[in-house]
Order: sequence, then C-alpha cells, then structure tokens
Amino acid sequence: MSEEKEIEVKKETTNQEEFAYDASSLPSLLPIYYKLLFPYGPFYSWLSYGGLNKTTFSNREFSFTLQNDIYVRYQSFTSQQEMEKEIQKMKPHKIDIGAIFSHPPKDHNKYHSGIFKPLEKELVFDIDMTDYDDVRKCCQGADICTKCWPLMTMAIKLIDRALREDFGFMHRLWIYSGRRGVHCWVCDDKVRKLPNKARSAIVDYLSVIQGGNLEKRVNLKDPVHPFLRHCITTISKQHWEEYRQAQEILETPSDVEKVLKMVPDAEMKEKLKTEFNNDNRTTETRWERIRKATAERYQEDMKKYRKLRYTPQEIMLEFCYPRLDANVSTSINHLLKSPFSVHPKTGRVCVPIDIDSVDDFDPFAVPTISQLCHELDSQKAEKTEDNSDGSTRKIHLYKTTSIKKHVKIFEDFVNKLLADSRKEKLNQKDATMDF
Ligand SMILES: [Zn+2]
Repeated sequence: MSEEKEIEVKKETTNQEEFAYDASSLPSLLPIYYKLLFPYGPFYSWLSYGGLNKTTFSNREFSFTLQNDIYVRYQSFTSQQEMEKEIQKMKPHKIDIGAIFSHPPKDHNKYHSGIFKPLEKELVFDIDMTDYDDVRKCCQGADICTKCWPLMTMAIKLIDRALREDFGFMHRLWIYSGRRGVHCWVCDDKVRKLPNKARSAIVDYLSVIQGGNLEKRVNLKDPVHPFLRHCITTISKQHWEEYRQAQEILETPSDVEKVLKMVPDAEMKEKLKTEFNNDNRTTETRWERIRKATAERYQEDMKKYRKLRYTPQEIMLEFCYPRLDANVSTSINHLLKSPFSVHPKTGRVCVPIDIDSVDDFDPFAVPTISQLCHELDSQKAEKTEDNSDGSTRKIHLYKTTSIKKHVKIFEDFVNKLLADSRKEKLNQKDATMDF
C-alpha cells in the first residue's frame, strides 16, 4: 500500500446540509483542521518561493485573529515546523498574510521605526460582493446567491486576462474568500518587489467604476481602449444575456429609471421612459429597444449624438465591471486573509479557484470545516476497521476529504511557480557567466 494511495471521497459524506456549520463549534473543529487538514507543505513552499533566500519566509508577517476577536499582529516563523507548531497552538479563527519585512516581524519591537519596514509583497486584489449592492437585486450586504455570483466570475475573467496579457504576470492565485468575494495574489518575482506607486498605477489601469451612487460613471470614447474592448466582449458574449435575465434588469419602473439614468441624452431618455411607462414589454425587448433606439439616433447625426454611440456597452460595464478595493492593492503593508484560512461566519475554507474552469466554480459547494471534520471521522473509522496495524497514520488524511481537489489546484499553482522561478535563476546565472 503506497503512502500516496488516493482514497475516493464518498459522495454521501459530502452532503453539506447534513453537516450544517454552526459557528459555536469552530473552537472544537479548528484543532482537528490545523492538525490534519491544513496543507502546510505546499503553503510553506509557496511562501518560501524556492527557499533560496531564507528571509523570504522568516521575515513574512502573519497575523492571527483568536477567539473573542483578539487580533495578534507581527507573527513570524523560521521554518515550516515552527509555523505548524504555532498555528496548532494558537488555533487562529482567521489567518492573515502581510508583507515580507526587513527583519523578522516577531522582533519588530527591537528595531526603531524606519529600520523595520515592509519590503516585498504579492500584488493582491480584493473583490467584494457588497460593493455591487447598487446593481444587484437578489441580495444585499454579505449575502450571495447563484443570481449574483456571475459578477464574481466576470470579475475574475476580466482582471485575470488583463494581468496575464496586458501586464504579463504569470502567477495569479485566485481564492474564494469563504463568504462573499474573491481575492487574487499575483506572485511573480518582479511583482512582489513593486513599490506602492507602481501598484497604484496598475490599480488605476484596472479601475473603470469609481464608487458612489449608480449614475453615469463610464464614458467610452473613440478609440475605445483595447482593455475595455476585451471587457465588453467577455461580458456581452458570455454573461450579459443570462445575467440581465436573472437580475430582471428593466423589469420594474425603478429598474427602468436606474438604467435610463445611464443614457447620456435627455431627449432620448425621456422618449424611452415614456415608451416603457406605457408598454408591457419584457426586460429583453426593452433592452433591445435601448440598443436599437440609441444606435439609430447616433446614425442620424454622428457628431451631435456621439455620446450615444456606446450607450449599451457603457450600461453593461456599469452593471458588471469589477469593483476593486484599491487600498488593499496599493499598500504593500496591507494584510489579506490567507488561503486555506476558514471563514469564521460561514465555516467555509478559503480555497483556490481553478482559473481554467472558473465558470464551474460554485461557492456553495466549497466544503465547510464541519463537513471536512465529519468526512475525516468517517474515513478514519473505516480505515481502523480495514487495517489494524495502524498504517493509516501514514496516509495524508486531507486526501480522504473533499478538500483534496482544492489542495491539488494549490499544489499545481505552487509547482508551476517554483519551476518558473528555478528557470529564471538559471537564466540569470547563464547571463552572468557570459561576461
Ligand atoms: Zn444574490
């Protein structure tokens, strides 16, 4: 029997409703989670970035939120073993990851401010569904459902393409935040070294929707930037029809009002408003009408009505373009919840999202800590029955649970990252030898 023997996760053990998460059980589940399920190996490999520079890991800040919201900053560890030991001892309800500092964060009191400072960090993005409350009708605040989750799918696709193609960033780790949003960690070597100013410039490039009430915020002008062209194509070709119908955009008089606010021509706005007040059209035919009426008016006099040229595309962007939390991305010193931390409110694990099948990602299928611990229990019981020689201890127990496939996505990401980093180091060495 090989140590790596894979054990099929039984279907019946993944029934989430049967093992509904109860927040009061978190303190009793976390010791099990941190002892048997947290993927320390790939997690340490990720944050060591190949291990050539020891301080890459040992000068990294972790912060822990303990029971009763006690927040402990400036934790740091010299090795994987020390990290494992501390996490298992402290049993944090939430783990955040901060920057790599000039000195070990746990010693920060020994240094004057100005000497102890953050030097490097991944470029991170935090996209939160609460920032879409002005454009979704199904839920508000921390709630999400299948009707609004496509907003996150679109956000991942649009931002990921730009990071990959427009900036050339290779290593982007997308994470479900465990409740109402997604995070992205851009891990390329050159990106981790970017100063705050450069991070701000990237966020500026990616920011289309500014905060505030839903009024006209997007104005497309010729020539439309290729980045926005990509966004419009993805939204309109892959998502808009389904999303518009699910959200019943243009259904009620107040929906109509909201959309017509974005038509940048008073006369056209009035005309459509009168039409829609007196018809019993569906949301679909009303949308078609907006498209047709604005296009026809633009054709009548391209100079006079140039503002109407891209009205439907502007409305789509207003509704669907990702809202970025700029502060999280622009400051190197900002902490962000760690992958594989457990969301204390929902019990769901912050798992990686496979970018190649982002359309299939279902936040409601992400395992909760109570479900995982139950799966572990039943598997352990079965193994004890099968083997009386105690060999079960050798098997990676997380592989017996539904977290396995999420760890696999993470391992694949980390392996690619480390392989590329080794390649880059070799190239640098070769280049030096030329001289
Ligand atoms: Zn919803």
